[in-house]
Amino acid sequence: MLRQNTNHSECGYVLSITPYRETDGMVQFLGETSGLIRLVLPAYYKPKSKQGNLGLEFTYVRYRFNSQENRLNRIIGGDILNNYKELRSNMSWLLDMSLIREVLVRTYSGENEKWVYDAFHKFMQESDSRYQLVLFLVNTIERHGFNPDVSGCVVCGSPLINEFSVRQGGFLCNRHSHRQDSKYLLMMMKGLFSKSDVSKYAAEGKIDAVVERLLQYIEFYFDIRLKTWELIKEIGEYEV
Ligand SMILES: [Zn+2]
Repeated sequence: MLRQNTNHSECGYVLSITPYRETDGMVQFLGETSGLIRLVLPAYYKPKSKQGNLGLEFTYVRYRFNSQENRLNRIIGGDILNNYKELRSNMSWLLDMSLIREVLVRTYSGENEKWVYDAFHKFMQESDSRYQLVLFLVNTIERHGFNPDVSGCVVCGSPLINEFSVRQGGFLCNRHSHRQDSKYLLMMMKGLFSKSDVSKYAAEGKIDAVVERLLQYIEFYFDIRLKTWELIKEIGEYEV
């Protein structure tokens, strides 16, 4: 009987690893072509495991694995392409990585999601920048068709905007709003969702408030609770 060679080699990111069976690890892998999949990393939790760091979270790897559809496939070997060694000791980076992982996994729909890999890959080129996190969140909102209306007040169309409302899905004027958002937040929301380049305003340290509002927006429209965000707020990691 002929056995098909199904070995497959692919680059991607290790999003998480958890114990599986006796000593194996279950990797959540975001691959360039396979998207978000689970793979078994055999004997990862054995003392003196030969798998080395192949299961280290938030690394860029090239895995070799069996590739059979509708099966839990096993990693045969691989190389680490980038382990982000300099960033790994940075608590703030780790929290941002956990946050983006949770958003990615919770909003992943499994269809035509090549953009997720591309967006995440781009994010990882400058993953220590909170502006890149903002762009990923905006991309997630837009790709799922949850774009807010940033043309004017969503109720009356007035250009004199006062608030970015999550529930109303866009701006509210001073007549229809219930709170006063900062000019910075309003300007950033307008720019981000109308494809303007607002990167030059991102370094002002106020970007954290934008991250928070985008996360609230994602929680509302995807109907999810982001645990990492709760944790980050408790620690007081963001200036919001
Ligand atoms: Zn209005």
